[in-house]
Amino acid sequence: MPIEEIYSPTEAKIGQRRILLLGTNNYLGLSFAPECREAAHEAIDKEGTGTTGSRMANGNYSGHRALEMEFAEFYQCLSCIVFTTGYQANLGTISGLIGAGDVALIDGDSHASIYDGCILSGADIIRFRHNDMADLEKRLRRLGERSKNTLIIVEGIYSMLGDQAPLAEIVNLKNAYGSTLLLDEAHSLGVLGETGQGLAEKTKLSSEIDFITGTFSKSLCGIGGYCVSNHPQLDQLRYVSHPYIFTASPSPATIAATRVALRLLRNGSKLREQLWRNAQQLYSHLKIVGYQVGPEPGPIVATILDNPQQALALWNGLLENNIYVNLILPPAAPEGKSLVRCSVNAAHTAEQIEYVCQTFSKLYPSIIQ
Ligand code: PMP
Repeated sequence: MPIEEIYSPTEAKIGQRRILLLGTNNYLGLSFAPECREAAHEAIDKEGTGTTGSRMANGNYSGHRALEMEFAEFYQCLSCIVFTTGYQANLGTISGLIGAGDVALIDGDSHASIYDGCILSGADIIRFRHNDMADLEKRLRRLGERSKNTLIIVEGIYSMLGDQAPLAEIVNLKNAYGSTLLLDEAHSLGVLGETGQGLAEKTKLSSEIDFITGTFSKSLCGIGGYCVSNHPQLDQLRYVSHPYIFTASPSPATIAATRVALRLLRNGSKLREQLWRNAQQLYSHLKIVGYQVGPEPGPIVATILDNPQQALALWNGLLENNIYVNLILPPAAPEGKSLVRCSVNAAHTAEQIEYVCQTFSKLYPSIIQ
């Protein structure tokens, strides 16, 4: 979908028309925050447009270390490593932590960066059914002694249906079987928890999680990723992790804008309230109208359709009414379903959300027969 011009966190020019954006991961609506733009401009003027190489070979800019320290402080963790993308944060952390002979035990709905990190690691990959704790326990039991060499990997909010991991039960199982736990907070950073740390903060289980990864590309509106941990060995990953070593480090503008965005995120309880108000409104409305939606409300509101034709018709209908959402067809969608996925953000106005609700209502009779 060619986007001709971006006007704001909620509107763009597409096909010569003004379109309402309802398919971004801009959860706090910070993509045009003046403080972040100013910091990025200043960094370009002071340090140039790019670092032109990896931190290992070319050196660390002061901003890289400062951001790592700010993330470590935010999560009250010993260490943080910043990666060039969120994808690489998972790739680099997972492939650095486990290897041949170990086990990666991952949720079936895991993001591709988790799958790819596991493949790169050389560990045995076992999937458990999405959010199914009986299945997770069954697989841990079957592993016997190997459960102690097992890295369980889950996500705070899953990007397809917008549901959250049952973290308390996962923590109990990982403790009972002596495994290690990695939590990807890509979609939950900024969204869950009092200060926006994610699901671990919301559930008060931060101290039970061995490794947390996340991305700058969603709530923080930048590009990059991180891993935080209290394991003193985390920093050793810098010497073994190819996705950290063999790629250029984040640009000065990216780092500077992300540092400011992190401050806004931490103090963003008003933004989080607005985000959740919008999310609740859209989720409840779609449910009342009769659409099948994901299991729980959240900023990702997925409409589940029985077949690709229905999904395509709904997606086209929304676009004809100047609303852009994500279309997800098999095999990308879980269980052979098709999804029309909306994501709301804190910058959507009450009028915009109301317009989206009315449009979904209007389209319902022609889509669901
Ligand atoms: N983890 C999850 C759960 C994601 O959804 C994504 C991106 N969609 C990533 C990691 C990768 O992040 P990035 O796009 O910043 O590389």
